[in-house]
Amino acid sequence: IKGAPTCELVFKNAKAELVGSRRMGLIKYVMSLMNGARLGIMAQSVGISEAACREAYNYALERRQFGKAIIEMPPVFEMLANMRAKTDASRTILYETCRFVDMYKILEDISRERKLTPEERDEMKYYSRLADAFTPLGKGMTSEYANQNAYDAIQIHGGSGYMKDYKCERLYRDARITNIYEGTTQLQVVAAIRHVTTGTYLNRIREYEAVPVLPELEPLKRTLSKMAQMYEKLVEIVTSPKDEEYLDFHARRLVESAGHVIMGHLLLQDANKEPEMFRRSAEVYIHYGQIEVVKNYNFVTKSRIEDLGYYKPVLSE
Ligand SMILES: Cc1cc2nc3c(=O)[nH]c(=O)nc-3n(C[C@H](O)[C@H](O)[C@H](O)COP(=O)(O)OP(=O)(O)OC[C@H]3O[C@@H](n4cnc5c(N)ncnc54)[C@H](O)[C@@H]3O)c2cc1C
Repeated sequence: IKGAPTCELVFKNAKAELVGSRRMGLIKYVMSLMNGARLGIMAQSVGISEAACREAYNYALERRQFGKAIIEMPPVFEMLANMRAKTDASRTILYETCRFVDMYKILEDISRERKLTPEERDEMKYYSRLADAFTPLGKGMTSEYANQNAYDAIQIHGGSGYMKDYKCERLYRDARITNIYEGTTQLQVVAAIRHVTTGTYLNRIREYEAVPVLPELEPLKRTLSKMAQMYEKLVEIVTSPKDEEYLDFHARRLVESAGHVIMGHLLLQDANKEPEMFRRSAEVYIHYGQIEVVKNYNFVTKSRIEDLGYYKPVLSE
């Protein structure tokens, strides 16, 4: 990304021609462009995460300290396992989001050639809503994981990781833009929160819960179901005072909690189809996600709405 010459362009009194219709610029054209681009950033984030995993794994295999390869040391293999789990979780939500986008776009294309049947129209609405909900959620989660994975890749390389000799230094710089451009993570949360409050995520979670899994994966499914209950309770606690500032304050905690449950379900389905490839990541990710949801739950339930005052800046004249 540093190889791309980027600068801000400012147009002053420039002659311009209106393209498209008035008042549609931001809500229709820019949002549709951004949603497409956000999907691209998700893919970029998955690529960076995957590269970070491979670099860290290869280095940990060959680097020896205290008479053994560092990959045999629990703090190192824990980092590697978490990186792999976050990467697999990122890839699975990317594919799910692409599928939703493909589905509604295909129906949109058909609608230009002929009138859709009422069932097709409902289907288009269903997938369009899911694409709208999963795009900011997936972009937010995968870009944050790309950053965490690039950070951990450097940590596993020790001092060498800080130097330009190894690829992980570049990955770290590349990762840093993913949670900023096409909208920062905070802006993804602004786009995603309405799908928390209107129940899009919870409805989709219920659909995942109805998918059967192998008996040996049932404990993971039960954990996901407990996480979903906690998420549902969280939403109720945060939305019931009907205070917008309070909702904004906790919005990221709510969106990320939904993300952990959804990505956990998607990995569970992957493990159900390909246990050899995904069982370990499903175990590690769902364990990690559960702790994160509990942490969010504790943050919300162990503070009062009045505590917001302690976080507000003191603005001097
Ligand atoms: C390398 C690079 C390439 C880029 N390429 C393009 C390009 O091709 N085309 C293009 O148009 N732009 C491009 N950009 C711009 C980029 O999309 C923006 O920088 C990005 O969306 C963030 O906007 P901002 O810089 O105005 O930050 P601001 O909006 O000023 O945000 C500053 C801080 O405030 C927070 N914040 C702002 N609003 C809210 C809110 N409502 N709620 C909570 N927090 C909020 C943000 O999260 C952030 O932490 C590029 C930027 C870079 C660095």
